[in-house]
Amino acid sequence: MAKVLEIKNLHVSVEGKEILKGVDLTIKTGEMHAIMGPNGTGKSTLASTIMGHYKYEVTDGTITLDGENLLDMKVDERSRKGIFLAMQYPNEISGVTNSDFIKTAMQARLGEDEHVSLFKFIKSLDKAVSDLKMRSDLPHRYLNEGFSGGEKKRNEILQMKMLKPNFAILDEIDSGLDVDALKVVGENVNNMRGDDFGALIITHYERLLDYINVDYVHIMMNGRIVKTGGKELIAKIDALGYDWLKEELGLEDEEEERKQHVVLGSCAIKKKTEAK
Ligand code: ADP
Ligand code: MG
Repeated sequence: MAKVLEIKNLHVSVEGKEILKGVDLTIKTGEMHAIMGPNGTGKSTLASTIMGHYKYEVTDGTITLDGENLLDMKVDERSRKGIFLAMQYPNEISGVTNSDFIKTAMQARLGEDEHVSLFKFIKSLDKAVSDLKMRSDLPHRYLNEGFSGGEKKRNEILQMKMLKPNFAILDEIDSGLDVDALKVVGENVNNMRGDDFGALIITHYERLLDYINVDYVHIMMNGRIVKTGGKELIAKIDALGYDWLKEELGLEDEEEERKQHVVLGSCAIKKKTEAK
């Protein structure tokens, strides 16, 4: 039976400022969803909140996995429940090799008397490294340390392939990738498709989605999902950007609003100094 990750009316604040303003989204295993949207609309905030990052405060709404409250769970519990986040900016961890990190994460998902077979682990790691056309020494280097931007992104996908999560949230795994790497990464994500795998792919370019066959495309603006459709939305955004949607929905332009505040702010300062 499909597993269900359900987000309802999610409101999230960061440092007292509301970023997500009522997100509704349901993802089932077997489905691939894309979220697109301009910069600063809350896509990464959504990803971090699903994973349980402490900085993101849920002020309203729910996130459940098969009816269980995810918000009550710590990050590692969420991971053991089968949720995986490929971060937009992966951390570098010195002193921990890539392969140790992956093995530990795999072990953490097993029961106390079960163990990751070293033989099987090495075999599947070698295969994943070659599938991703990564340099063969990468598993033995410290996690992400000195990795190029593209290598870090591939490395996130390597972890995903090894951990085989039920739900993968991939936050801009395409940024910093050249065309060849984009194809490799996209195809590897697409190959994950299966009854036990659901994905939320965050991107603001359509190019990655040339390689990933998504079922649904959501557009996020000003902290909400404002439109959901199929692949036809990708081509439309590629050709026209987001302005048509802002007009269609009568949305205020957050960027413009912010600029006006700055202008007002500097006017206010000017007035004060003039008065002196
Ligand atoms: P997107 O991924 O869509 O570009 P983000 O979710 O990264 O957008 O950011 C949405 C808004 O939330 C931005 O205004 C950003 O500055 C703010 N924000 C996100 N995370 C943090 C944080 N950790 N600290 C402060 N502000 C944050
Ligand atoms: Mg982001």
